[in-house]
Amino acid sequence: MYRLTKEQELIQKAAREYAEKTIEPIGAQIDRENLIPRAILNGLADLGMFSIPFPEEYGGGEAGYLSYILALEQLCKASLGIGMIISVNAVGLSVLNTFGSAALKERYMPDAACGKTIMSFAFTEPGTGSDPKQLSATAVRRDGKFIINGTKRFISNAGYEGPMVVVCREEGSGKATALLVDKFCPGYSVSEPWEKIGAHGGPLYDVYFKDVEVPADNMLGDIGHGMWVLKVAMIYGKIGLVGLFLGAALAAYEEALSYAKTKTHRGTPIASKFEHIQMTIADMTMKYEAAKWYAYHLGHVADTVKDQNLLIKEAALTKMFVTESAIDLCRMAMSVHGSYGLMKDYKIARIWGDVIFGPQVEGTAPTLKVLAANVILNS
Ligand SMILES: Cc1cc2nc3c(=O)[nH]c(=O)nc-3n(C[C@H](O)[C@H](O)[C@H](O)COP(=O)(O)OP(=O)(O)OC[C@H]3O[C@@H](n4cnc5c(N)ncnc54)[C@H](O)[C@@H]3O)c2cc1C
Repeated sequence: MYRLTKEQELIQKAAREYAEKTIEPIGAQIDRENLIPRAILNGLADLGMFSIPFPEEYGGGEAGYLSYILALEQLCKASLGIGMIISVNAVGLSVLNTFGSAALKERYMPDAACGKTIMSFAFTEPGTGSDPKQLSATAVRRDGKFIINGTKRFISNAGYEGPMVVVCREEGSGKATALLVDKFCPGYSVSEPWEKIGAHGGPLYDVYFKDVEVPADNMLGDIGHGMWVLKVAMIYGKIGLVGLFLGAALAAYEEALSYAKTKTHRGTPIASKFEHIQMTIADMTMKYEAAKWYAYHLGHVADTVKDQNLLIKEAALTKMFVTESAIDLCRMAMSVHGSYGLMKDYKIARIWGDVIFGPQVEGTAPTLKVLAANVILNS
């Protein structure tokens, strides 16, 4: 058992206060417009929310992954879309911090750490979402540059200025290779945003590369290291998602509590009148607490573990548990609301559109089970 440090408590409190005062009042607007106002992103940047776990040397908070999860939970209680922007930026920063040269880190990390630019990570293509062997975007090396051509699909943060990590097939070797591209450089363009059923505010685009040139020095790692880059991105992507969907779970839990205490039947709140509402609230408390401690444990493991395989296993299992718990909690909260839970005027209906995303992204349950079982059975 561990206690939160003073720093972790302060970060959690700052995120909670900002979410309650500034994001919650416009949660429905964000959902409708599928857009986070720039003023909100600037406010989050002022609080250091874009770079909690990254080294101070590059503008980060150096406060660890447990702090990161604590902050995302509070922010995503108000808007999951905000968490998508922060967590994908953090995936880019993790990869850059792990594989980038000192020059690349100095050039790109401080701006992305303070929210001036926002990073993306582009792997998925129309033909593949999880298999690097099927990558069709190409990078051709010529005269000290790479020339990139191809299409990337469902890319988060692609509409914001900043660097994008692009995993493509290097033509000489035929191997997956990761390059850092400045978004909106010549040859870069994006589609209209996809019309998602939830997670609004974090729009997804298809991205088109037409003879996009990047200096050869913008390679992350070496030719053929794209798989390793993807592996690191998937680990830290899952940690972010755990924070996001824990926030959605907490939002569902609190909506159920509040509705049960305020909705009355013959003058008595349904929480006092109906035993099955009390049973549901007890079940919800148990489920939220289990998800919360599993999530916080992952943050603690990410901050302390030396063995990367252990982190892969923990991230896969926690991500599955927390995202499934968020769906269960939302379903239970909707049942507490009766028919009102199906109406868009109620926050719980919006949360339903959000939680359904959890199990589909950063690895589906079957792939994560195989990943975790491999570590468990071979250690
Ligand atoms: C909100 C959101 C944000 C996203 N952001 C980004 C982003 O920023 N960058 C990016 O690159 N992508 C992003 N994506 C895309 C996402 O990462 C991919 O869609 C995801 O990896 C799944 O790929 P796919 O949809 O092609 O499914 P597929 O890989 O085609 O999977 C289809 C089905 O086959 C199963 N399957 C696949 N492989 C195996 C296997 N080896 N063993 C067993 N079963 C398997 C899966 O479980 C699934 O049920 C985002 C998607 C969403 C919804």
